[in-house]
Amino acid sequence: MADDSTIEGRGPVTTLATPIRLDFDFTPGIAQSVFLRGLARGRFMGQRCPKCGKVYVPSRGSCPTDGVPTTEDVELANVGTVTTYCVVNVPFAGQSIEIPYICAQVLLDGANLSFMGLIQEIPTDEIRMGMRVEAVWVDEADLTPSLASVKYFRPSGEPDADYESYKEYL
Ligand SMILES: [Zn+2]
Repeated sequence: MADDSTIEGRGPVTTLATPIRLDFDFTPGIAQSVFLRGLARGRFMGQRCPKCGKVYVPSRGSCPTDGVPTTEDVELANVGTVTTYCVVNVPFAGQSIEIPYICAQVLLDGANLSFMGLIQEIPTDEIRMGMRVEAVWVDEADLTPSLASVKYFRPSGEPDADYESYKEYL
């Protein structure tokens, strides 16, 4: 008979694997719908603050600095700059990408907010801050209103961006 903290002969229970599932519906709202519909067309869409002029991608619908609605839709470039990155070497449950791989914050040209992207087509020891990258999209027939439409980013071949151009986005 086990007591409160042990299973007989096996010591204390430290982990427990149990199936779990969570179904939910996501309501993106107007601003994020602009972003998601853009992804379904193979475009990065953001919104500009009418007061400070910053472009957020994806936009949350308002400027966090000025507290005003971002109502002007802006199409961003397909290229951007790696501001920071992480080389993932640790396997984890449910991992779908072969390790090692690179996750990076990518600042698209024309945007004032970076977002996380997968970097491929480059050895992991060659990634660096300031590297110019371009988005690689899934085939047109497979585009959906989700980030799954972006397969990954890869080096664009352009010279690295000057640190001054992205230092405020680290
Ligand atoms: Zn603003």
